[in-house]
Amino acid sequence: MSRPINDALWQQITHDITTEMRAWRLAHPKATLCAIEVELDARLNRMRARMIEDLALTSSAADWTATPAAEVPRCTACDQSLEATGAKSRTLQTHGAQALTMERTYGVCPACGAGLFPPR
Ligand SMILES: [Zn+2]
Repeated sequence: MSRPINDALWQQITHDITTEMRAWRLAHPKATLCAIEVELDARLNRMRARMIEDLALTSSAADWTATPAAEVPRCTACDQSLEATGAKSRTLQTHGAQALTMERTYGVCPACGAGLFPPR
C-alpha cells in the first residue's frame, strides 16, 4: 500500500451523514419509510464514492514514484519500465450516479511512447 486508509476522512463523512439525517428526520417527522430510504440512500451513495476514491489511493499503483526499479509497472506493448510523469486524475461514474475522481501516477514508455495508468 502506498498509504493507509484516511481514517479522518471516513470519520468525517460518517459524522456528516449522521448529522444530516438527524436534521432531515427532525424536519420530516412523518416521512414514510420509502422517503427515509431515498434520503439515506442518496447520502450513502455520496459516502460510498468518497470511500472508493480513498481506497483506490491505498493501492501501490496509485503512486509508484518511489517503487523499487524491479517493481515499476511495465509497458503492456514492449515490456519496458514506465517512466512516471506525475499524478493525473480521471473521473469515472459509480452507482447512484456519483462521480469518482481517481488520482494516479501516469506512466509513459520510454521505448514506444505509450502512456497509461498502470492497473491496480
Ligand atoms: Zn512500450
